[in-house]
Amino acid sequence: MFILNPKLLNDGVNVKKMFLFYPLAIVIASFSLLYAQNINRKGSSDRDKMLSQFHKISSNTILEYVKELASNKYEGRLTGSSGYDAAADWAAALFKTWGLTPAGDNGSFLQKFPNPYTLVLDSGGLILNNPQTGGKIAYEYEKDFYPGATSDSGEITGEVVFAGYGITAPELNYDDYAGIDVKGKIVLLNPEIPASPDKDTETFMKWRPYSFHDYKMKNASSHGAAGVLYNYQIVNPNCVFIKNQIHIEVGSRVVSDLFAGTGKTFSELIKKIRTEKQPASFNTGKSVTMKCRSEFHPEGIGSNVIAKIEGTDPNLKDAPVIIGAHLDHLGMCDKLMPGANDNASGVAVLLAAAEALSKCGLKFKRPIIFLLFGAEEQGVKGSEFYIKNLNIPAGKIKAFLNLESVGRGEGIGAGSGKNYPELFKVIESANNEYVHRNLSASMNSNLARPRQDAAHFLWAHIPTISFGTYGAPPVDVPVYHTTYDRPEILTPEIMEDLGRIVFLSVIDLASE
Ligand SMILES: [Zn+2]
Repeated sequence: MFILNPKLLNDGVNVKKMFLFYPLAIVIASFSLLYAQNINRKGSSDRDKMLSQFHKISSNTILEYVKELASNKYEGRLTGSSGYDAAADWAAALFKTWGLTPAGDNGSFLQKFPNPYTLVLDSGGLILNNPQTGGKIAYEYEKDFYPGATSDSGEITGEVVFAGYGITAPELNYDDYAGIDVKGKIVLLNPEIPASPDKDTETFMKWRPYSFHDYKMKNASSHGAAGVLYNYQIVNPNCVFIKNQIHIEVGSRVVSDLFAGTGKTFSELIKKIRTEKQPASFNTGKSVTMKCRSEFHPEGIGSNVIAKIEGTDPNLKDAPVIIGAHLDHLGMCDKLMPGANDNASGVAVLLAAAEALSKCGLKFKRPIIFLLFGAEEQGVKGSEFYIKNLNIPAGKIKAFLNLESVGRGEGIGAGSGKNYPELFKVIESANNEYVHRNLSASMNSNLARPRQDAAHFLWAHIPTISFGTYGAPPVDVPVYHTTYDRPEILTPEIMEDLGRIVFLSVIDLASE
């Protein structure tokens, strides 16, 4: 029974209290044993090794990793940029220090893949020329808009036409561009599609191809639009670069100014489109000037960072346990996008688990692979490349544990834990025995466009759990894909606990 382990007593459990709680401890332990997996079947010396490293997983170290990755040094880690390459080298150097085996191209830690990227060179500009009040409104970077992270360079002035979801779907008898002329003009578009996956799956699947940002930008361009105002005010490099197309991400202030005096509101029209599945496009009669300055790099090369702990059982050498987290973020757009939670937190937790697993002195039957993805933010490209070039059968992979934005909150979510209850049980057991956080599994319908690296593993039918955290104290600024995703908004203790859960779970999974 682990609770009487002398190592734990050394770690501060008061012996007198132990006697008071002893009967209770027996009851808890009896229940726990029902769940207990390999962790508690290990001999006492293995358990000592395990617990010693377990306690060395520290929120201090993890937060230092986050601060390092979120610093100016790595320029927001946009895959393809020199900042990303420096972050990849930094992570590879740590893997090397801990004695892990390189598992990238040609004996290196890096697996390279083609990855065009765009650098944003200044904060751009957006001006409304003829508001109801007369005069002009110059909008503010971040407060009202972001320059499109994949926009071409240029300045244009034009009328703004509301074109709904920007979809032309003859087979669905739907065209947002029917009856409007957008040539040389600027279209205001809503992201997503007028259907949701959880309500009517069949209908959703018909609309799904039109949910991609790339599709909407290309469709706007093929109808002759010179610019796109996109009602999705985050920095988002998950979009195609189109020559001569200027693209800006706008928020509610810009949208409501464009609708002022038209007798319509944006939200009512979107609601109407969703219910009736009929377009509601119209010319707003307003004109804007929009400008962006950027540099497109079609020759860009991205990389995944891959390291390995070898397994001892030759029959299981093709059946690894994989832990993943995306290393990249949004770059400089035009200010630093630190990405502390998204996803320096996931990388930091992975590194903490990797260090503990490499130093604990235990032997594992299965190989353990540590996988830092590039280009998650550019459309989960690194994980797609990894799965396409897998050199082992996907069906043999024991498990994939993904860490995505795990730095804020008090509870731990196990995405697709309900799809893989056996895998979830291992994680639940580690948590119940040693960590005691609120832990909840969810069902992943796996239908929408891929938004996490886990999607490519799920589509390959690999048992997958993607960790997230929830229950963070509120902050008064938007933090998702903004300049405010900084280390100071994190709750380091949750990262320590998750690192420990991953460490214990992987020991179990790799020992089976
Ligand atoms: Zn992100």
